[in-house]
Amino acid sequence: MSDALVIAVDGPAGTGKSSVSRGLARALGARYLDTGAMYRIVTLAVLRAGVDPDDTPAVEKAAENVPLSVGDDPDEDRAYLDAEDVSAEIRGEAVTKAVSAVSAVPAVRARLVGLQRELAAGPGSVVVEGRDIGTVVLPDADVKIFLTASAEERARRRNEQNIAKDLGDDYDAVLADVKRRDHLDSTRAVSPLRAAEDALVVDTSDMTEAEVVAHLVELVEQRAGARR
Ligand code: C5P
Repeated sequence: MSDALVIAVDGPAGTGKSSVSRGLARALGARYLDTGAMYRIVTLAVLRAGVDPDDTPAVEKAAENVPLSVGDDPDEDRAYLDAEDVSAEIRGEAVTKAVSAVSAVPAVRARLVGLQRELAAGPGSVVVEGRDIGTVVLPDADVKIFLTASAEERARRRNEQNIAKDLGDDYDAVLADVKRRDHLDSTRAVSPLRAAEDALVVDTSDMTEAEVVAHLVELVEQRAGARR
């Protein structure tokens, strides 16, 4: 595929979105942009400043000039707060709990959306993963994919990951958290989570990660072929 393509991958937590987006970027030789990591870095900075994530004016102020950067190699997880590698810390419980509140703040979104557009405009093809990429960040993306899976299946996957990482085994708590985050993300006033009208919706409930990646590569190739 010689033409540069912009591919948006959206969907709720636990659909395998990150692994699948990285796999797709790898298969296409594209760059990869994890926009969730950007919201997580800002959230970490807010928490470190001792700010209550539900105190919107204080969050706005604390988030204003956060020096964040992320990598674009699908094989590396690079997330920096200033010069500090925070890639592990941003996946921790404290950030995961607070990130929905911080990402609901319009000023935070405005700044990060601008940054995401700049990063997506770099060289070559890019797979951009998030919640509002096809609807808000890159409405002109060449291919828009919206991944779904049942809340129960997403909770099962997340719980398995927790067990593998020695983070405990509590399916009911994970399911409650999945539903809580779904609700917050889909009902917030700014950029609620929803599929773009022209998105290709893929239900991953009964598919392995490799099957989803293969399916997406096919969809992208069809779309790219149709463009030529
Ligand atoms: O994808 P990940 O779970 O890392 O995203 C963390 C959180 O960041 C999401 O639950 C959501 O609240 C927020 N987010 C967002 N818009 C994006 C990406 C992530 O609001 N484009």
